[in-house]
Amino acid sequence: MAAAAQLTDRTDEQKAIIEMVRDFVEKEILPNAEHYDHEDEFPAPIVDQMKELGLFGITIPEEHGGLGLDLTTYTMVVEELSRGWISISGVVNTHFIGSYLLMKFGTDDQKERFLPKMATGEIRAAFSLSEPELGSDVQAIKSTAKSTDDGFYEVNGQKMWVTNGLMSGLVFVLVKTDPAADPPYKGMTCFITEKEPGTSENEGDWKGLNVPPKIKKMGYKGVESTELVYDGYRCPAENILGGEEAGLGQGFTQMMDALEVGRVNVAARGVGIAQRALELALRYSQERKTFGKPIAQHQAIQFKLADMATKVDAARLLTMRAARLKDAGERSDLEAGMAKLFASETGKEVVEDSFRIHGGYGYSKEYEIERLYRDAPLLLIGEGTSEIQRMVIGKKLLQRHRI
Ligand SMILES: Cc1cc2nc3c(=O)[nH]c(=O)nc-3n(C[C@H](O)[C@H](O)[C@H](O)COP(=O)(O)OP(=O)(O)OC[C@H]3O[C@@H](n4cnc5c(N)ncnc54)[C@H](O)[C@@H]3O)c2cc1C
Repeated sequence: MAAAAQLTDRTDEQKAIIEMVRDFVEKEILPNAEHYDHEDEFPAPIVDQMKELGLFGITIPEEHGGLGLDLTTYTMVVEELSRGWISISGVVNTHFIGSYLLMKFGTDDQKERFLPKMATGEIRAAFSLSEPELGSDVQAIKSTAKSTDDGFYEVNGQKMWVTNGLMSGLVFVLVKTDPAADPPYKGMTCFITEKEPGTSENEGDWKGLNVPPKIKKMGYKGVESTELVYDGYRCPAENILGGEEAGLGQGFTQMMDALEVGRVNVAARGVGIAQRALELALRYSQERKTFGKPIAQHQAIQFKLADMATKVDAARLLTMRAARLKDAGERSDLEAGMAKLFASETGKEVVEDSFRIHGGYGYSKEYEIERLYRDAPLLLIGEGTSEIQRMVIGKKLLQRHRI
């Protein structure tokens, strides 16, 4: 009990920020999500308010203009935002991963150039590994960067599924700088590629980076997912993450490190969407009557609610454990994988149970659960599918329990 209480305990600072975010979600996100989802429109006014609240700089150090808070606090914020609409957490997620990469691996110059503008949300970041022919198998990346005689690298290749691909000003992109490297990961490098937010064909210094029209999706609307085409894009060597000397060939390791915190972040989104689905089911089941009583009074429905609430709590505890371990500087790879696996599956299962409790109305666009039902499956895929999480967990388990 004491351990569980510690996992969900909040400091006064955390209480204050969560209260602020919850209020924002109630007033600005929940009443408007349906509109932006229906139109598949970028929620610009909501994002502007998030900038004012400092939500793009939660984990960025104060010296660079951010709030300097830890992963645990960020995780709590993401749960709240996702309870409102997971697309909003999608706007922040790749930005958070980009700022993590800069804070952990960036040169002083890179931190000074990018972090202050990222903290205010003036520029937002995207994170790009996937390509049309690969997602799970990151070492199979085909995009390349070749050094030129004048201190640049020419980047070529096609990227896929880039969240915030159009509206971002920075893309942390993983490409091969040594396609013959064996093993392949040793020849991979992360470039900080700059571009004009909102522009599909970049010109001038950023010529050669084009953004095709956004991909049409089942859910997770509002936030754009795009391809990115690098066609002779010239990236200065100083934009290799960590600098040319230290960063060349380190991209895979850097990106995998960032994915670990990304997984905690996706886990928090699973908790948030499941929490909302549970709330909707608790309300609907007490309003809707069948056979002379509210459906909540039927034991079969109560059992469903009991399982849903139990899973939400378990997912939250796993997520908080992973975040707290990372903040404490302890190993959290296994725990992040477990949290992501369990919380994303919980998101999908609890949303589906809530949908069932809503009966026919769950299938109607008049009810919020319909949106959640389309949004939840994304979490099974992003930052590594459930199969990939099981591979990570299995491998780490065996490493920790070698005989
Ligand atoms: C809306 C959305 C947003 C996204 N945003 C981003 C982003 O911002 N940046 C980015 O880089 N990527 C992004 N992605 C891509 C995402 O990370 C990939 O879709 C994901 O990693 C899975 O890759 P894939 O789609 O190529 O599936 P594949 O890797 O082709 O896998 C297909 C199926 O095979 C399974 N599988 C694969 N290998 C194995 C194995 N060894 N053993 C057992 N099963 C296996 C998978 O689990 C899956 O079920 C996004 C995806 C979506 C849908």
